[in-house]
Amino acid sequence: MRIEGIPASAGYAEGPLFDLDGPPVAYRGKASTTEEKAALKSAIDKAVSRLTALAETADGEAAGILEFHIAMLQDDALSVPAFAAIGSGEPADAAWRQALDAEIAGYEASDQDYFQARAADLRDIRDQVLRALSEDGEAAAPPGAILYGTDIAPTRFLETDWSRGGGIALKAGSTASHVAMLARSRGVPMVVGLGASADSPVGVALLDAEHGGIVLSPSPAEVEAFRQSSSAFAARQGKAQTFLAQPAITRAGTVVRVQVNIADPSDVDGIDIASCDGVGLMRTEFLFGKVLPDEETQYRAYRKVLEWAGGKPVTIRTVDAGGDKPLPGFTVAETNPFLGLRGIRLSLTRPDVFRVQIRALLRAAVHGNLKVMFPMIATAEEYALAAALFAEEQTGLASRGVAHKLPPLGIMVEVPSVAIAPEAFADVAFLSIGSNDLTQYVMAAARDNAAVAHLNSVRHPAVLRLIASVAAFGREKGIPVSLCGDSGGDPAAIPALLEAGLRDLSVAPAQLAMAKAAIADVSV
Ligand code: PEP
Ligand code: MG
Repeated sequence: MRIEGIPASAGYAEGPLFDLDGPPVAYRGKASTTEEKAALKSAIDKAVSRLTALAETADGEAAGILEFHIAMLQDDALSVPAFAAIGSGEPADAAWRQALDAEIAGYEASDQDYFQARAADLRDIRDQVLRALSEDGEAAAPPGAILYGTDIAPTRFLETDWSRGGGIALKAGSTASHVAMLARSRGVPMVVGLGASADSPVGVALLDAEHGGIVLSPSPAEVEAFRQSSSAFAARQGKAQTFLAQPAITRAGTVVRVQVNIADPSDVDGIDIASCDGVGLMRTEFLFGKVLPDEETQYRAYRKVLEWAGGKPVTIRTVDAGGDKPLPGFTVAETNPFLGLRGIRLSLTRPDVFRVQIRALLRAAVHGNLKVMFPMIATAEEYALAAALFAEEQTGLASRGVAHKLPPLGIMVEVPSVAIAPEAFADVAFLSIGSNDLTQYVMAAARDNAAVAHLNSVRHPAVLRLIASVAAFGREKGIPVSLCGDSGGDPAAIPALLEAGLRDLSVAPAQLAMAKAAIADVSV
């Protein structure tokens, strides 16, 4: 049976299905007492950061309850017996359950209403930590599997080993989601919008992420046809590889700069710097995994990429949390996160977190050709506030004699207000069009919603007209304009982007060869 969907990251995968929507798995024991203790400690921390994030947006009474839960979780009196039980050989989940159940029984036995009511809070706390513990033991998909389910979290994607193939097949999802972006950057085949299927998937399946579809329980003839398409695709990709080593030039001789988009510093390990013109976008929110990274961790990550680039430009974007990239302990729960406190808006409300990143960037700048850009800028005032924080931190580092450099500061053009009225930004060092968000905001079609994926097109005249006018503004004012949204690596969108006046694209590493091949075919 073939189910049709939308291709989100081109490629083919043949392998066993892994059910992403299956029941949560039980906690898996660790090899040593030390690891059991560490697992419990990190599950408690995880529960605390989740509750903290909830408490930040909750109103009076709810916030009070959550704060009570947090205080209980942080109170050693609750965890000491659990850690002691681990010391005498219990696994973390059983130790925590026993310790909490004993405490709960004590509260339940009380004849005072107040203490009896607290038993419910303790049960909640117990379950929060058990949940965090079992997520920690989430079953890993077998190598080469096709992960099939409603949706997939970015963390799940990052925790999966893709080195032996495999792919992603989602009933919902969107081609513009962050997981789709990660899949393209790692070359992991992905299809979205397959819709709900009646069966729970089993056995081997064929994922065609070139045209968008999945074949469940394939016949031998279907396997045969699939393998032919798969090899033809591989051959086309192989041919495109010949473009990798050459600069990107159109048929008419127009030179196009092609940079790469990365998320994790390790992404550069597999890229030959000679094959691209630098890094057009380093997304830093993925460094902000489960805990907020400290200055040193960030400094090392940025420095690694700058040194790899060896003098070619590296554009690092300050943290763009929020929207479809929630970060426990940082982002806030909102009813409409794409229109809420994300990107620079969030960073400006949390200068404590933002300043750490700014110092790491200023220090890393001495190691290469760094540029820094701000995400989700909507007004010139936001840019001015962010730039002022850079200036303040620069003064601080200078007074302490710490080596640093102020990089050129630019902005993402991804909120329509900037694309429509760019004249307020005549003093920024550069503009980088984020077509993923610009498209979703112009078309009012969420990037992570398969039901409106047909509307989410960069090739709609409204989006292209805005891109062309930003490119023209940049030429007129002498401000470099690039594009770092995923459309830059899409062979179907490249001709229109070059027609719109762009000469500078930044694409997922896995799309570099195909993008250069597509550029060579354009007559602009
Ligand atoms: C964009 O919006 O196009 C972009 C590059 O940023 P992100 O996908 O990280 O939101
Ligand atoms: Mg964006």
